[in-house]
Amino acid sequence: MQLEINDQTVADEARALQARYGNLEPMDVIELAVDHLFNEEIAVVSSFGADSAVMLHMIAQIDRATPVLFLETGKHFPATLRYRDQLIAELGMTDVHDIHPLKQSLKDEDPFGALSMTNKDRCCYIRKVEPMARAVAPYRAWMTGRKQFQASTRTALPVFEAVGARVRINPLAHWTSADLKAYMAEHDLPPHPLVAEGYRSIGCMPCTLPVKDGEDDRAGRWAGSDKTECGIHLTGLTDELSNISLTDS
Ligand code: SF4
Repeated sequence: MQLEINDQTVADEARALQARYGNLEPMDVIELAVDHLFNEEIAVVSSFGADSAVMLHMIAQIDRATPVLFLETGKHFPATLRYRDQLIAELGMTDVHDIHPLKQSLKDEDPFGALSMTNKDRCCYIRKVEPMARAVAPYRAWMTGRKQFQASTRTALPVFEAVGARVRINPLAHWTSADLKAYMAEHDLPPHPLVAEGYRSIGCMPCTLPVKDGEDDRAGRWAGSDKTECGIHLTGLTDELSNISLTDS
């Protein structure tokens, strides 16, 4: 499939893909996307968080050379970085990229590394949104591990969606927490070490807390503030990407 570099065409394409393939099982979605729809023009964005082993394991069954993009914000738990290294080695992924914030942005806006305490939106912008747009710019599509059950803001999450002139794919959108646990157990995948301490959605250390039984998995993210998303899945990313042409990237 060759997508035109045109936002409206890609939006139509994503709707058509969702209508035709939106109910496929995750493994079938990944195989379709990697082997047939986007070939070498697709990546996966992984946080190496609580459930990340599931989709990475599926992708490793299909193509271990699929590019894996990790936003190295500089604020992760040390346990996450160790888990990233462990999973990459165990799954044999061969093309993993740490995506860092721009040095100049850190120097100008967060010289003491404390921006998360005073302006979380701006901190997420320079450490996540801008790096994410830069990271996915060379690809026509990318996969995420987002699920509908994770939060009330994600209940309508589709498998295929357009983000500007690119397609974002959420193969696990329909899976439940039980599905993920069953897959982890069936394939003997190592859990993120912080899951045992009550962390069910794991992001940057200053902005992540464990959650209680009955709470949304993402209740511990930016707890105590109105913020529920970092912005890499929202319109800010689309705006950033609109400044980067596919042919330039
Ligand atoms: Fe900064 Fe927190 Fe956003 Fe990480 S999650 S980029 S530390 S505000």
